Amino acid sequence: MARLVMKFGGTSVADLERIRNVARHVKREVDAGHEVAVVVSAMAGSTNQLVEWCRQAAALHDAREYDVVVASGEQVTSGLLAIVLQEMGVTARSWQGWQLPIYSDNAHGGAHILEVNGAELIKRFKERREVAVISGFQGVHRETGRITTLGRGGSDTSAVAVAAAIHADRCDIYTDVDGVYTTDPRIVPKARRLEKIAYEEMLEMASLGAKVLQVRSVELAMQQKVRVNVRSSFDPPDAPEDGNHPAGTLICDEEEIVENQVVTGIAFSKDEAQLSIRRVADKPGVAAALFGPLADANINVDMIVQNISADGRTDITFTVPVADYERARQVLEQVKGKVGFTAVEGAADVVKVSIIGVGMRTHAGVAATAFKALAERGINIRAISTSEIKISLLIDAAYTELAVRTLHSVYGLDNG
Ligand code: ASP
Ligand code: MG
Repeated sequence: MARLVMKFGGTSVADLERIRNVARHVKREVDAGHEVAVVVSAMAGSTNQLVEWCRQAAALHDAREYDVVVASGEQVTSGLLAIVLQEMGVTARSWQGWQLPIYSDNAHGGAHILEVNGAELIKRFKERREVAVISGFQGVHRETGRITTLGRGGSDTSAVAVAAAIHADRCDIYTDVDGVYTTDPRIVPKARRLEKIAYEEMLEMASLGAKVLQVRSVELAMQQKVRVNVRSSFDPPDAPEDGNHPAGTLICDEEEIVENQVVTGIAFSKDEAQLSIRRVADKPGVAAALFGPLADANINVDMIVQNISADGRTDITFTVPVADYERARQVLEQVKGKVGFTAVEGAADVVKVSIIGVGMRTHAGVAATAFKALAERGINIRAISTSEIKISLLIDAAYTELAVRTLHSVYGLDNG
């Protein structure tokens, strides 16, 4: 017997037919003798609709009331799934965030979970074999008792938090893809589904544009050591399966992965713009004078590259989200006189391609392989940044597909 959290996203609960399909997945696990807590999202499109209604009601609206409105989507799904399960003869009860409770801070619209009380769920597993159907995405602020929501995609994080609270053996995230791929299969048809991926790698993949899971859910899973399995809700729900090796991709501790490849995946993000500041004085305080005002303007800076200077002046290049590109340029122009540099140059049509793998820690030559492969294709690299398990390359957006395909194949990730 295992204790499982099963999470179903919006497309998996898009209508009653799909909710019945979800119920069959749940029933399979219950029939296998497992204790099950289910976390559900709102039916596909409904959160967008709720957000839109708030916007139409008033462009500037109270975030506490926004949460009251958008949290309602999940309430509908949890009730419906409980009804369908009961009708199938499975004992089930729905739970809203405030009922468990799932305590969060009061950052309405983007709250963080602080504590989940799983005691009642565990008691009911034992006493009545009751399935808990929990509304994802929502929590409650302990001091005010107000409903909160966790930010878009937040029900992944709800699921991981519940899994940690009830000490689940695994958190199965059922979604519209059957796992995590070595890269985006729409760009590289030869992309493979990974059997396993380490938390840290997934974190890089997730934050670099592979949109399978909310980034925060992966951080939480890593912290709490929750084993997360991403799999498809469109798999046949009644097929018997081997409990130890369910379909999908397991996100787990590095130690659980035996056959480590050097490179696990290639991620890319088109949401990047490059800024270069020419001939800045190379002296203490300059970087602070440039990046301080950007931080004050709430502009997230990434990939900072600065050269060693020969004549007391240097160039600094970095990236910002495309949406902040013009604003960042303005901020920099404003400090130009004070900081002292000759020009701000930039490009918005760039893409950041990243090579990810924990195996890099112990293998040399990973970067050199990429440089050579891209050079042979005539792809120019604008900026490079690295971490222990990642190499990011900024290139012209026009070369995205070619670069991703090239890297995918050069590191032996191609299928067959
Ligand atoms: N329904 C919420 C959203 O669309 C939360 C989720 O689905 O994860 O963002
Ligand atoms: Mg999602």
